[in-house]
Amino acid sequence: TLEVRALHKAFGSEPVLRGIDLSVARSEMVFVLGPSGSGKSTMLRCCNRLEEPTSGEIFIEGDRLTGPGVNLNAMRQRVGMVFQSFNLYPHLTAMGNVTLALRRVQKKSRAEAEAIAAEALDKVGLSDRARHHPGQLSGGQQQRVAIARALALKPTVMLFDEPTSALDPELVGDVLAVMRDVKAAGMTMLVVSHEMGFAREAADRVIFMDGGRIVEQGPPDQVLGAPTHDRTRAFLRRFH
Ligand code: ATP
Ligand code: MG
Repeated sequence: TLEVRALHKAFGSEPVLRGIDLSVARSEMVFVLGPSGSGKSTMLRCCNRLEEPTSGEIFIEGDRLTGPGVNLNAMRQRVGMVFQSFNLYPHLTAMGNVTLALRRVQKKSRAEAEAIAAEALDKVGLSDRARHHPGQLSGGQQQRVAIARALALKPTVMLFDEPTSALDPELVGDVLAVMRDVKAAGMTMLVVSHEMGFAREAADRVIFMDGGRIVEQGPPDQVLGAPTHDRTRAFLRRFH
């Protein structure tokens, strides 16, 4: 469903992605691990062209996302993205944040957008917080609004970039529980996160990146439990 081929990205003369090949199957959850600066966020951002690849190709359900002549507006709606820093509009309610793109981008009526948003907020357990502003919500609740906002556009793939890194430890579990539900509903997910317990339990596959390359990948038990690459071992030692 998400296909990345020979993806390269350089910032100026600094290569950051050096040939990433990755395919994420429908309903698969792939976890991405790697040291700071290894290119995880850049790879994710290339997957909805927030970052322009230097070369390589990306396909969403067989449709090309990269190259000229692509309807980016339409393609981006198929790729939901959830960031570490929720990126909610502070002056809008939870409902307002979730309906914004439904109305502005998908041109839905207010009633239709609110019905879809209400369903999405229900999925993340926030039906009773629809009229709250981000400032009146906990970090975990704000992140769940951000997930609802992405879900509401009915993407075929969802990208998560360290969705729980900015949260107080006691709020992490709620967000992971929502991600578990999203996966159970059949979503295709590419997740950058250092939540090793969650990776072991929920990921179908774990990828380890270093220096802009995928150096190791496999089932979570294998990559996390018996890594074959020195860089992976060194990285994982920090989490024990
Ligand atoms: P972290 O775990 O710290 O989030 P990461 O694996 O997500 O790291 P990236 O954010 O993808 O790493 O960054 C990879 C490299 O690209 C870093 O060396 C970074 O400095 C560089 N980089 C990222 N964005 C830009 C940019 N807009 N301009 C120049 N260099 C950039
Ligand atoms: Mg990053």
